Amino acid sequence: MQYRAPVRETLFVLYEVLQLHRYEDLADFEDLSDGVLEAILTGAAEFAEQLLAPLNRSGDQEGCSLQTDGSVRTPSGFKDAYRRLVEAGWSGLAASKRWGGRGLPYVVASAVEEYFNGANQSFSMYLNWGFYASMLMDVEGIDNLRRDYLHKLIAGEWTGTMALTEPHAGTDVGLLRTRAKIQADGSYRISGTKIFNSGGEHDLAENIVHFVLARIEAAPPGTRGISLFLVPKFEADANGERGRRNAVTCTLIENKMGLRGSATCVLNFDDASGWLIGEPHRGLSRMFVLMNHTRRSCGVIGVAGAEAACQMAAAYAKERLQGRASKERLNSAKPADPIIEHPDVRRVLMGIRAFVEPARALLLWMALQLDLSERSQDEDLRRRADDRIGLLTPILKAVLSDMSFVAAVQAQQMFGGHGYIVETGIEQYVRDLRVLMIAEGANGVQAMDLVSRQLQRRDGQAFASFRQEVADAIASQSQSFRYLSEPMSGALQDLSAVAEWLHGAAADDVAAGAYDFMTMLGLVALGYMWLLIAAAACAENSVLEEDEVDAKLARARFYMQRLLPEVAACRSRVLAGAADLMRLPVEAF
Ligand SMILES: Cc1cc2nc3c(=O)[nH]c(=O)nc-3n(C[C@H](O)[C@H](O)[C@H](O)COP(=O)(O)OP(=O)(O)OC[C@H]3O[C@@H](n4cnc5c(N)ncnc54)[C@H](O)[C@@H]3O)c2cc1C
Repeated sequence: MQYRAPVRETLFVLYEVLQLHRYEDLADFEDLSDGVLEAILTGAAEFAEQLLAPLNRSGDQEGCSLQTDGSVRTPSGFKDAYRRLVEAGWSGLAASKRWGGRGLPYVVASAVEEYFNGANQSFSMYLNWGFYASMLMDVEGIDNLRRDYLHKLIAGEWTGTMALTEPHAGTDVGLLRTRAKIQADGSYRISGTKIFNSGGEHDLAENIVHFVLARIEAAPPGTRGISLFLVPKFEADANGERGRRNAVTCTLIENKMGLRGSATCVLNFDDASGWLIGEPHRGLSRMFVLMNHTRRSCGVIGVAGAEAACQMAAAYAKERLQGRASKERLNSAKPADPIIEHPDVRRVLMGIRAFVEPARALLLWMALQLDLSERSQDEDLRRRADDRIGLLTPILKAVLSDMSFVAAVQAQQMFGGHGYIVETGIEQYVRDLRVLMIAEGANGVQAMDLVSRQLQRRDGQAFASFRQEVADAIASQSQSFRYLSEPMSGALQDLSAVAEWLHGAAADDVAAGAYDFMTMLGLVALGYMWLLIAAAACAENSVLEEDEVDAKLARARFYMQRLLPEVAACRSRVLAGAADLMRLPVEAF
């Protein structure tokens, strides 16, 4: 089954649900008129379907290999695809024009990111560095570094990595030990070992630029003593071309559950030359400017994989003949009926679709908030957008990655025993998507961030304002879509009650309820998207055909009847508190 990028669905969300034309005044949005947006999405879809998707399975089977000289060979076909991607200008899409990027709005870059990841998650791990680098290097006093490195990173000629994790310092990055020693010329010598570096070594580009967190000698302990350094594999020469080899070596690539086409490397920095980015000891906050993007990306990648897995499962369910359907659906000309005729199979496929559609809308809606927060002239709108980003980024990262993984497992279930067999190809999605619940901060830690920081954002006003936005949507649809607005009203009440309870709860109770609260907020946010989708689908000028509208409303109803009720269960779990969890001694586990 060939992956098909959901261009029509993306356009429906952008034009009909988000009403993109309302934002024509924003910088860079004016360039999207007259079919430009369609052309970009169609071009990206072709690239994803024809070049990246065919390398997905072979890339997984072949994997990456560490050579005796320390170089890493990526799977056959990756190098050529990467060259073609860069030549066609698909690198640095969202990087600011100020630094030589294309400056496309995040709503567009996010859609392209979905297609590339739906086609080939491992391959797509090597991308996006132009944009990340432009954000990390948007600081004073490093004009020379920008001149030497940024242009090539944005163009995709060189790639980058984010080197935070060490064997004993994962979530608790403040424990890191990599050291930085200042030199007479103002550069630094970096020494230490970083693990789990995605794309830490490979053969796709002629140079790799590592963005490394390290501690300058005599820096304060903990997170307040961490600085950010640019440490290239090859230093740039006087002409900004690849120069002297630096003392960074790849000593191992991890043998992983999934994502086998992406090289996850252990890197040794052995007195390597590095340059400080930004102020000393402020490296973590610099890295955090990226986090809203990398965490949102986890949601994009998850939904991309869930979409691809669902496409495979639906195609299989239409072909696989097993058992007899109920009388009305019986096809007596065949020895058995396609499994898609069985209600339980429908339940599974509908569950995936009822999640993927609002999840895509939520991702694009959040990408629009990022655009507004950077591009709007209206201060209120910018602040509101910032609030949404802070509050809902943990939802994109954690709730969407959790639900995407479940969707992939459900898609695998459609194949019965064949789904457990490698040749079918569906099990790869389960393996590949699993990492999203761990990387960029494990999902449990996202939940802690939500309840301990984001829920209190601007004295709780960020949460209150989002809650009001959902309440307004419920009220405006209480006549036309009662079957959607009523369940949503109940879910919003549960969410509000739990938020209030958490406000006055003891620290352990808050921590014990964090995950369920995050799930509640995620389910309400997805329900909110269904309200917007239903309204757009039924609007007078809707571009959807009648059967498409019908399908959307059926999925929306399914969501409200079968997925949203989990909110009430989450409420009970939060209110149970931490007493029983913490009462037991460690030995009881
Ligand atoms: C395929 C892959 C690619 C990766 N790519 C990169 C990369 O490019 N660059 C990079 O720097 N890192 C990368 N990582 C590392 C990743 O970000 C870390 O694995 C992740 O942040 C978790 O750290 P850890 O593995 O040390 O787990 P730990 O921090 O040891 O956490 C273990 C468990 O304890 C829980 N936990 C920890 N602390 C707390 C707490 N305070 N409260 C509640 N629960 C807690 C966590 O939720 C988790 O479930 C990658 C990892 C993988 C698997």
